[in-house]
Amino acid sequence: MGESGCGKTTTGRAVLRLVDSTSGSIKFEGMNITTLKEERLRPLRTRMQIIFQDPHASLNPAMSIGRAIGHPLKIHGLAWQEEDVKSQVLTAMREVGLTPEEQLYDKYPSDLSGGQKQRAVIARAMILKPKLIVADEPVAMLDMSIRAKVLELMLDLKKKYNLTYLFITHDLATAKFLCDRIAIMYLGRIVETGPAKLIYNDPKHPYTKALLQAIPIPDPRRRARKVLPKGEVPDAVNPPMGCRFHPRCPAVLPTCGWEGRDFLDYLEERRTDLEKGKVDEANLGPLDLWKAKGLVAERQCRPENIAIITEYVRSILNDAPSPLSKAVERVKNVENRLVVQFRNPDPLAPKAVEGRLVECLLY
Ligand code: SF4
Repeated sequence: MGESGCGKTTTGRAVLRLVDSTSGSIKFEGMNITTLKEERLRPLRTRMQIIFQDPHASLNPAMSIGRAIGHPLKIHGLAWQEEDVKSQVLTAMREVGLTPEEQLYDKYPSDLSGGQKQRAVIARAMILKPKLIVADEPVAMLDMSIRAKVLELMLDLKKKYNLTYLFITHDLATAKFLCDRIAIMYLGRIVETGPAKLIYNDPKHPYTKALLQAIPIPDPRRRARKVLPKGEVPDAVNPPMGCRFHPRCPAVLPTCGWEGRDFLDYLEERRTDLEKGKVDEANLGPLDLWKAKGLVAERQCRPENIAIITEYVRSILNDAPSPLSKAVERVKNVENRLVVQFRNPDPLAPKAVEGRLVECLLY
């Protein structure tokens, strides 16, 4: 669970080995499948299925619903006789509430509603009798009116067949309804994981707290809850140093991973204040004189100005929020370059905190 772009879908696909993982390991039924060759993976694939977010895109428009649901049986060589395939398909259709099954069997996806299409996709996954289903936002594209019904169907199937879902969602209310355990992701990292009840009742990670506060309450007398922390999810290709949440974290510490680009962001933010922006512009000139790399932000200065500019930078750092100003190790002059050097972030690792794992320096 987490905002868009935090890596939930990629993780789900990596678990099924649909994309290669760059680190870590994947175990399925006790077997390490991280680097298993395709021919050895193939028999396992029947027990690991996926349901995609968009049922319209998941079904071939030229294939009848019955054929689409039965297709995996043929691909995996589990049934060849048309009668046998059809009988298994009709059973699967009944199971997911895609009825009257005999009438719907020869229909095409365009004849079905969104809810019916998602039921067909679920039937296609279930026909192989899987043990694990990765469900990637399976109700996000459905009308509100049918979401609950599809979720209830998934819960029924889970109980009946002892299924495990890896349920991917950005919607905490849905996760609360369906999940026993949850893992909160931010920019490719799991920041808190544990029993759903525990985390919903008492979130520990600042990002989890922010997500839970953002759940709307359907009561007009209650004030709107706080929105997610400032700013957008940063670029995952070039994530922030230290704790990836640090540029947005309301509880950030000086040791959480401040770096050169945070100083540039701070300078930019000051420019949005008319008064401060004017004075900064007069003392420092344009922002694009600065460059940031790793723990350093720096700019070239003329020899006659460097002392004045250094003093000015020190003064605006004194003015900065304390985690940022305390994170600066030193401001120094190196051959007419003014360098703002941040300290190394503290190492971050998941820690056991009251029944769950949390990756945060507050614990
Ligand atoms: S380590 Fe914890 S306190 Fe520091 S930025 Fe990350 S979430 Fe916030």
